[in-house]
Amino acid sequence: MTMIAINLKTVHDRISMACRAAGRDPKEVTLLAVSKTFGAEAVTAAYAAGQTAFGENYIQEAVQKITQLRHLPLQWHCIGPIQSNKTRLVAEHFDWVHTVDRLKIAQRLSEQRPPHLPPLQVCIQVNSDGGSTKSGVLPADALALAQGVVALPNVCLRGIMSIPEPAPDFIAACALFAGARAVFDALNAAGLALDTLSMGMSADLEAALHEGSTMVRVGSAIFGGRTYAVAATG
Ligand SMILES: *Cc1c(COP(=O)(O)O)cnc(C)c1O
Repeated sequence: MTMIAINLKTVHDRISMACRAAGRDPKEVTLLAVSKTFGAEAVTAAYAAGQTAFGENYIQEAVQKITQLRHLPLQWHCIGPIQSNKTRLVAEHFDWVHTVDRLKIAQRLSEQRPPHLPPLQVCIQVNSDGGSTKSGVLPADALALAQGVVALPNVCLRGIMSIPEPAPDFIAACALFAGARAVFDALNAAGLALDTLSMGMSADLEAALHEGSTMVRVGSAIFGGRTYAVAATG
């Protein structure tokens, strides 16, 4: 087994244990392998170990990898911030986007989605702990944005995504994830049929799963520590 295969098994075991502790079925949870800063060979090793969904932050870096790995049946998720001038690349290459935080971006993604591809699957990024410097829509504005996104023809609203502040312990992390969960529940109560709550990373996936996450985004626990040399190309 490769190191990546061993790490993947460890992460699946953590997901199973966390789900069992929360009385949940691990089959409700999707593992997104965050391959940013790692090359096509790392993605290929993860695919050989059964992983098919991958997350990327830096658009240019991702498009290169996606193009290189076109021969594999992989699903690509954009989890990084999107500037207006990058929406076309995202609409043309990704299957999912987790970081829609304003209607203008969603409109451009819908307009630029090539007609031969299925609708782009999107999550709204919510700034659930309200930090003023962070990206993501504030909870109070999430419903209006969701209703705007639902009306667009070539995107399909699937849920919300959140990156809370790092918390000192499990209880504190749960409290932060509960804020995002409350937004998710409120949107569903308003009639949006959302099935995806994207939250939890290497360090805090147990707390996220405890609070109802359906998609954890895990990088370093699978691929190892990152060096950020390529980050500037995004
Ligand atoms: C990098 C990143 C991750 C993965 O983080 P790890 O701590 O390496 O698991 C998850 N989500 C987002 C949005 C990221 O940028």
